[in-house]
Amino acid sequence: MPEITIGATVVRLVQGDITGQRVDAIVNAANSSLLGGGGVDGASHRAGGPEILAECRQIVARQGGCKTGHAVITTAGALAAQKVIHTVGPVWTGGTRGENVGLESAYERSLGLAREHGLRSVAFPSISTGAYRFPIDQAALIALNTVVRFVRQHADALDEVRFVLFTEADLAVYARALDEVRDTMLG
Ligand code: ADP
Repeated sequence: MPEITIGATVVRLVQGDITGQRVDAIVNAANSSLLGGGGVDGASHRAGGPEILAECRQIVARQGGCKTGHAVITTAGALAAQKVIHTVGPVWTGGTRGENVGLESAYERSLGLAREHGLRSVAFPSISTGAYRFPIDQAALIALNTVVRFVRQHADALDEVRFVLFTEADLAVYARALDEVRDTMLG
């Protein structure tokens, strides 16, 4: 299984459906309306039930949605996880409009929320690489580097960060990126 251990935290790649993961928090690749969509977003609301959307609506009423690169947290409803962290990745428009920074921020703020809430295991999908069209090779490196940096800065916060890739091809891309990150770390 492709994984890397950093201090007491394991960063692991698996193929599967994020909605079925038994972790403290799953991350939803949401859109800024927080009112649902396709892909991971649609699957999370379908599997988790109406409670998730009800809390999203309360957040919208309070703060009017969620900006790109930001994250909010709700109940996980009927899911096995305790919480859903909804983050909004950037829409890819060629790479010159802050897409990299936006993606980094989506991962970083999601992990920050997990830490604040004492959630010790977190599962991420491949944010922005579906409907938002971010090139997956580049997205995988940003995702893994951001997670590794966070875990090093907050060594006691997390037991596991799991990337749940929907297809074998996506898993292979992330596995290559993980090898690259590992090589860089070993110098
Ligand atoms: P975005 O709008 O951020 O691009 P999407 O949900 O469209 O988000 O896609 C992000 C990635 O999640 C894509 O690689 C897609 O294939 C994958 N995906 C879709 N459904 C699921 C699921 N149930 N579990 C895990 N990954 C999923």
